Amino acid sequence: MMQPHSGDDKSSPLEKILVEIIRNHGPIRISDYMTDALCHPQYGYYTTNQAFGTQGDFITAPEISQIFGELIGAWLINAWLEIGSPSLFNFIELGPGRGTLMRDILRTAQLRPDFLKAARVYMVENSGRQRYEQQQKLSSQEAAITWTSSLEEVPFAPTLIIANEFLDCLPIRQFVRTSLKEKHCWRERMVGISNEQAGPRLAFHLSEELFEHPKHAPTSAKPEDVFETCEARDELLHEISNRFTEFKGRALFIDYGHEQSTCGDTLQAIKSHKYWPVLSAAGTADITAHVDFGATQKQAEELALNVDGPITQGYFLQQLGLEQRLLMLRKSANDTEKETLLAGARRLIDPNDMGKIFKVISLSSPSLPEAVGFA
Ligand code: SAH
Repeated sequence: MMQPHSGDDKSSPLEKILVEIIRNHGPIRISDYMTDALCHPQYGYYTTNQAFGTQGDFITAPEISQIFGELIGAWLINAWLEIGSPSLFNFIELGPGRGTLMRDILRTAQLRPDFLKAARVYMVENSGRQRYEQQQKLSSQEAAITWTSSLEEVPFAPTLIIANEFLDCLPIRQFVRTSLKEKHCWRERMVGISNEQAGPRLAFHLSEELFEHPKHAPTSAKPEDVFETCEARDELLHEISNRFTEFKGRALFIDYGHEQSTCGDTLQAIKSHKYWPVLSAAGTADITAHVDFGATQKQAEELALNVDGPITQGYFLQQLGLEQRLLMLRKSANDTEKETLLAGARRLIDPNDMGKIFKVISLSSPSLPEAVGFA
């Protein structure tokens, strides 16, 4: 279990900027806070920090084991066949981190030279620092790789999309149920300021404004319950639906989150593998929220996409042949490597580790059959 951290007594440069903005213009939404804390061009967490890996603040599945990228690579080759093996297609990764997943996928895809030849690889990454790291890692790749800041910049074509731990960093809003019986009985949780002895710091406030029942929020919500919405995710689903109705496409999202929309405050910050108070020293810790896969599924269906899942990562990776791949790799490994391979594979599927809390969902063009691994 991760330890909690008490935060920083000093505010960061970004926190000072935000305090000034709030002092002049009033409290801001959590989504705006998250956007600045993660992506501020000068002080954002992804702009300034080495986020991933054992040295970084957290570790992701592709950094834990090469098997993750290899199995997903095989899934993508299959998805390419399912969309009719187009001789030219977009292969898009959203939020590629250190580029490890893409490296492992492209290595696996060497088994299918026609897939590699047809793929136009797009890395959708809005942090210059991350981009640089990805470019270093993928410099020896033969595939044509283009970097863009958003999915909108990628031309329309048959498409495969992969995104691991991307949805969780999209900015959320939080609404708190009041005890009112009226139609408008939710308030928004906002970021304001509190005046501490040592100076003003950021603090949560409730909006004066009242809101209607948020879409997908359970009707059973009680006073004080928190419900989270994610407009950026809704916009992303719209964009995918526009593309997948015009050209065949399949997308795979992997993230931690819940299968059904429920109430709960899941906003969290992590720094050096410890929980960090979300509003302390903005820009110095990673901030995420659990993904509402229930809402994602419903929203995608409303947009006429075919949806497979959500299912757990553990089940999905086992369906894709994790055990067999592990056996293969262990054959040519020394004792230490064998241990590392086994430990990594276990972490990915163990229900007490990433196996259960991480979910997988696939979104496809309306005409496509069920995606592999979801049966
Ligand atoms: N997929 C990687 C890293 C996930 S962390 C892995 O599995 O290891 C999230 C990544 O998304 C980072 O690279 C971050 O810079 C990027 N990112 C965050 N918000 C983004 C946005 N709105 N648009 C594009 N990239 C974004």
